[in-house]
Amino acid sequence: MSVSMANWLDQQALVRERRGLVRRPAPRGPADAVIDLASNDYLALSRDPRLAAAAADAAHEWGTGATASRLVAGTTSLHLELESALAALVGMESALAFSSGYLANLGVVTALGGPGTLVVADEQCHASIVDGCRLSRSRTETFAHNDADDAARLLAGRAEPRALIAVESIYSVGGDAAPLGRLLEIAVEHDAVLLVDEAHSLGVSGTGAFAGRGSIAGTALAGHPNVVVTATLSKSLGSQGGAVLGPARLREHLVNRSRTFIFDTALAPTSAAAALAALGILRDEPWRADRVRAHAAALVAGLAGFASVRPSAGAVQSVAMPSAESAAAAARVAGEAGIRVGCFRPPSVPDGVSRLRLTAHAGLAPPDIARAIAVLRDILEEAS
Ligand code: PMP
Repeated sequence: MSVSMANWLDQQALVRERRGLVRRPAPRGPADAVIDLASNDYLALSRDPRLAAAAADAAHEWGTGATASRLVAGTTSLHLELESALAALVGMESALAFSSGYLANLGVVTALGGPGTLVVADEQCHASIVDGCRLSRSRTETFAHNDADDAARLLAGRAEPRALIAVESIYSVGGDAAPLGRLLEIAVEHDAVLLVDEAHSLGVSGTGAFAGRGSIAGTALAGHPNVVVTATLSKSLGSQGGAVLGPARLREHLVNRSRTFIFDTALAPTSAAAALAALGILRDEPWRADRVRAHAAALVAGLAGFASVRPSAGAVQSVAMPSAESAAAAARVAGEAGIRVGCFRPPSVPDGVSRLRLTAHAGLAPPDIARAIAVLRDILEEAS
């Protein structure tokens, strides 16, 4: 490495160290040793033997890797089955699988974007949407978080022939929900596409017949021609991969134009098979989604009284901390007490506020939640 580059890297590391912003991907311990409030394994399916069996069968039948991109030799019947099942579950006309949710967002925003498309994105959209906007070379404007009127203001009188509004149905950091009904009205009024990232909602939101099917299924947005949905297979579905759901003409366009679809090796057959098995379980075992939401409500109730704890729309509960250092220290103390929590510091948090993120999931039992609340109350009292 050149001397100038090496010096720059060392300087950057020093600044991170001073600001308490150093992050390390430490290996986690065995699954049963801690109460996990950090993973996105909302339905506790990532270790389900049915998914493992489906992945193993797929490995034996199709191989451990896809061997090529989708348009060359990487498409198996599993990919097509997965796409049909996903579209049916959410109530969209079609779906296209990608190797990750990140690539799904990147792929759809770049394929719909460009100089003729204005993108209007919520200021708290995930990095994959932000990067899609940048790569698309679209004019991109951000609107105040969850402020649909601000989005409408940005769309009014645009010069571009096409427009895309980008939001998350449940925000990954704050756990709050987007005003989807109002956003759809605005999209229709302004002849725009509404892109909804369901990463933290699929598997969690929806009640009754739609339990776990997300924020779109069973609403006016499902199958609506102006709506495009992105999903990840790596959170509730316990696998790995992503998808874009929408009208058949969109799928056809993505197959032909989306660079993250065309030039990426196909989703591994093992991942497709595990996600397909997970979709069946999600549909047949609605108690899982109900349990996630019950645990999330219990967590919020148990932590009531702390200023930064607010009811959340899904499984994610976000607790703002006074500083990056205090967030890291709180996560460490919780870990020592057997509670694994997420710790978000800049640049992962769009508003720059460091926080703990607590995610409820179906694998926890009520005593786990009670123990987590007791430990976290002590830590938050100390920090406040
Ligand atoms: N969108 C959101 C809102 C996310 O939180 C994530 C994952 N962190 C992604 C997209 C990317 O999904 P994946 O992990 O499958 O790449």
